[in-house]
Amino acid sequence: MVSAQDSVVELPLARFLARCHAEFSADHSGEVATYIPELALANPSDFGIAVTTVDGFVYEVGDSNVAFTLQSISKAFVFALALDIVGPDRVEAVVGVEPSGDAFNSIRLGADNRPFNAMVNAGAIACTSLLCEIEGAGMGERLTDAFSRFAGHRLEVDEATFESERVTGDRNRAIAYLLRTHGVLKGNVDEVLDVYFRQCAVKVTARDLSVMAATLANKGINPLTGEQVASSYAVARTLSVMTSSGMYDSAGRWVYNVGIPAKSGVAGGIVASLPSQLGLGTYSPRIDDQGNSVRGLRSCEALSSHFGLHMLNRIGDVRTCIAASYDVGSVSSRRARRPEELAILEAHHAAGIVLELAGALSFANVEYVSRRIQDLQPHLSHLVLDFRRVSSISEAASHLLTGALDGLVTHGVEVVFSGVAKGTSLEASLAGWLGGKHGVRGIAPLDEAIEWAEDRIIQRLGGHLDLQKPTILAEQQLLTDLSQDELSDLAGLMATRDYDAGDRMIGSGDPATSLLFVGSGVVSVRLPSGIRLATLSAGMAVGEMALLETRRSADVWADTSVTCLELSLEDFAGFRERHPRAAEHVMANLARLLSKRLIVANNKIEALASF
Ligand code: GLN
Repeated sequence: MVSAQDSVVELPLARFLARCHAEFSADHSGEVATYIPELALANPSDFGIAVTTVDGFVYEVGDSNVAFTLQSISKAFVFALALDIVGPDRVEAVVGVEPSGDAFNSIRLGADNRPFNAMVNAGAIACTSLLCEIEGAGMGERLTDAFSRFAGHRLEVDEATFESERVTGDRNRAIAYLLRTHGVLKGNVDEVLDVYFRQCAVKVTARDLSVMAATLANKGINPLTGEQVASSYAVARTLSVMTSSGMYDSAGRWVYNVGIPAKSGVAGGIVASLPSQLGLGTYSPRIDDQGNSVRGLRSCEALSSHFGLHMLNRIGDVRTCIAASYDVGSVSSRRARRPEELAILEAHHAAGIVLELAGALSFANVEYVSRRIQDLQPHLSHLVLDFRRVSSISEAASHLLTGALDGLVTHGVEVVFSGVAKGTSLEASLAGWLGGKHGVRGIAPLDEAIEWAEDRIIQRLGGHLDLQKPTILAEQQLLTDLSQDELSDLAGLMATRDYDAGDRMIGSGDPATSLLFVGSGVVSVRLPSGIRLATLSAGMAVGEMALLETRRSADVWADTSVTCLELSLEDFAGFRERHPRAAEHVMANLARLLSKRLIVANNKIEALASF
């Protein structure tokens, strides 16, 4: 597990948190809660802050490992669990979602005799009672288990605090009896309250709170363990009620100033969760009149205002979801094309478009993508959507994408997805398309998707792709401008080489002593790692860099059965002496090929860097 405390160079957020900690440590306002006698034993000077990012990095400062009890913070998690275990219908029938404007322990119910919301005692006891209807007293243990999964390790109940509250908890007893009068609480009051007091007495640290908050921020998936602890439905509803009611009667001011869903507890903890970004946990037992930790509040306020973390702040620019956009004329696949194929692709470059998408695709991103796709439409026949850099796609975004692509497909456009990694949640979200529905195909690497689009465009426009068709030496790109005599002299020096599909024709690192002219078939030049640098076919030379280099820089594989003519460097040296003019042509042709490759590479860089 990574933590800022282990790192050598201080990270900017770690430095900021340390500054907050130093500054707010001097604030001694507020009092330690005493109405639960055991809470009065807390050390008033304890102060810890922890932040966990949604990718599981933990920042800690001060007393981030001092244990204290969850108290009301448990309410947020119990609400989420009630939604998942009991079901939203029953939970939402029993407890409202309106801010009460009252203190956390108010005995007042709403006009419909339901608790105002699940973040005040009445609402929390109602949720606990619903859970107890399922498992009775055993629910206490089940809740501790569930909290532990939010925190990523085993949490325990502080028996002394539990006992202390049980003995003194008459106000909560009053609330529970009132709930029973109105049929909200159906079971045994003492049994329900025992579970409630237990959930409040679960021991955590500021670090634990930050991980629990990050789990809420991460759609219910604990970023340290990867476990889905709550459904995204329950998490979204819990964060909603935390936003409107998490900070008791100062909830309005909280949303206005801080704007991060949060929940506090009288023991001095605050949990704050900023969706998709971070979880914050603070602990300092001095609380204000509303029951919120003074230093905790100040830490949240400082973090939010310094970094502009208010959840209603506009973040990002929808346009960044297109990392690159180009046509097959400016960025080609690694398949080297014959001149007649190139001519087709150049004339119809706008028929094949690649959009490289990036980031978490939301409604707003894909709405933008759908307009970009519409703009392309007049000439478009093949669209490649690349998902290599896409982390997720929301349901709303999926709907919009379906709409945009359905429109294209009915107009005869062929769509291909690339870069969707196997076994990812993104693959699951796109499964409907990748299965071949909606006329969309999935081709794994982007380069192959582009090659496919090129092939289809060439075929559609009458080009031929007969790669086995033999060619004559005069068609070789490297040998243009040679006379018949020169060609036949050269042919006399060459040896025919046949390869089967799968043969390695050239090995990286070998001495470069000859060049091969492909007469028929398809060969691929690959790095030893398997990455494809180029695919070549009849009329093209491989190993031609032997004219300039002494060692082979890559492997060459036969993709199909291949026939080549091999010319050794030694023989070429002899030829050079006999036909200096022809040899100069060969070298000039090589320079031209290399310069074309450089132009293509520069185009690629330009197309990819201009975003
Ligand atoms: N256990 C506490 C109570 O019910 C929780 C209150 C709180 O943290 N605000 O009084």
